[in-house]
Amino acid sequence: MKLWPLIVTAMLGVAQTPSADTLRIYVIDVEGGGATLIVAPSGQSMLIDSGSPGPAAERDSKRIAEAMEAAGLKRINYLFTTHYDGDHVGGAPAADAVAHFERFFDHGEMDPKWEQNRGIEERYKAYLAIAAGKRTIVKAGDAIPLRGVRVAVVASQGAVIGKPINGGGQPNPFCTDAERKEPNKTENSQSTGVLVSYQRFTFLDVGDLTWDKEMDLACPVNKLGHVSLLLATHHGFFNDQSGAPALLWAIQPQVVIANNGPRKGMAPSAYDRIQKIRGLEGLWQSHLALASDAAHNTAEEMIANVEASTECKGHWIRVDVAPNGRYEVTNGRTGFSKTYRAR
Ligand SMILES: [Zn+2]
Ligand SMILES: [Zn+2]
Repeated sequence: MKLWPLIVTAMLGVAQTPSADTLRIYVIDVEGGGATLIVAPSGQSMLIDSGSPGPAAERDSKRIAEAMEAAGLKRINYLFTTHYDGDHVGGAPAADAVAHFERFFDHGEMDPKWEQNRGIEERYKAYLAIAAGKRTIVKAGDAIPLRGVRVAVVASQGAVIGKPINGGGQPNPFCTDAERKEPNKTENSQSTGVLVSYQRFTFLDVGDLTWDKEMDLACPVNKLGHVSLLLATHHGFFNDQSGAPALLWAIQPQVVIANNGPRKGMAPSAYDRIQKIRGLEGLWQSHLALASDAAHNTAEEMIANVEASTECKGHWIRVDVAPNGRYEVTNGRTGFSKTYRAR
């Protein structure tokens, strides 16, 4: 008889509690925005970006709440905001209502000299209203105190780390003949981003950091070493403003997850560039890229959502990382999963 509660729990599909030494990452689908939940082995948690403003905020905060429920969380300790574009900070007040953040991390004061999405003043004011008194401004080289993992800030306010980390520092052969782009003038260039490390496993999320700053991280030496998992920058190199091959090919991610929207990011050029990563073992997408053919989308079993946004259920992609470096990526739509081993 004692088995009954266990069986019922399994049948209802309620929160699977991972073992205490697992790092969990949920790439939440917010229709081409940013919202990545990190649950450290200590149980402490951090949300990187909080989705979009306006009517979309209700949708996105509901999806954040669903990921929290799946992870067995009643609250999220930190909100880490990469930058102030709508699809990254617009959902912050609605997310705060479900996550009750204790602390906030961001790149500092909003500066109107950087081109922004519309509605920035209002958005920034709404963010300050929830973050006031609980806010920490981060610089490249800082660490975020998330117990059980190391979280290194690798870029912020247009600057990148001075010294290599994660075994980086080697001259980067991909810098020769690399395409350079003019210094970017948008808020994306101010993006802050993190390298999360847990034993051998590393995860890089730099928000919408721009091509010129990626080059600063990559050339003349690769400052980031090799990474296990990359959240494809700017939703899968949106409009080629990000995704510099010199960084992408030098950090050699083993697995890439794109938080693309149905029609945002993961253009065929981004797909092709990712496929050229040496040793790539898997590409996962939040969405089927509707404007691309099947040859420029990953296998359907590795795509969390296949519909247009109006029909979308907003399934997440989950990554469970064990201390021995074994990590499993799961499609929230189908339960399909694949296991990798951090090199
Ligand atoms: Zn974005
Ligand atoms: Zn979706």
